[in-house]
Amino acid sequence: MSETIFDKIIKREIPADIVYEDEQSLAFRDINPQAPVHILVIPKKAIATINDLTESDEQLVGHLYTVAAHIARAEGIANDGFRTVMNCNEHGGQSVYHIHLHVLGGKPLGWPPYAGD
Ligand code: 5GP
Repeated sequence: MSETIFDKIIKREIPADIVYEDEQSLAFRDINPQAPVHILVIPKKAIATINDLTESDEQLVGHLYTVAAHIARAEGIANDGFRTVMNCNEHGGQSVYHIHLHVLGGKPLGWPPYAGD
């Protein structure tokens, strides 16, 4: 699998506003935020898409959600509420092929997230 920009962030080869890190995961602010709080939670293990997950990744993906909840509390958006999104492939709007959980909040978010068609 070819290296993505997120691998470079993990290795500190390019800068990012990192808000959380542990052995398995890293979280940093999205460079193009779509809400007052927009943080990406990524596994350090490079997995391209949801389609590439195996049973051995179940603990890791669950961990991303635990980290998301921790971040939501730290950012003060847990009680009001927030949204987590993991896009997959072209129709899902995925642009970086290293799975990541978007954590969005800080304002009421529209639903459904698409405009027609
Ligand atoms: P996707 O479209 O794959 O679900 O989400 C990729 C996200 O990564 C986008 O929201 C985009 O703004 C963000 N992103 C892309 N390149 C960078 C970068 O170099 N740094 C940071 N912090 N975010 C990035």
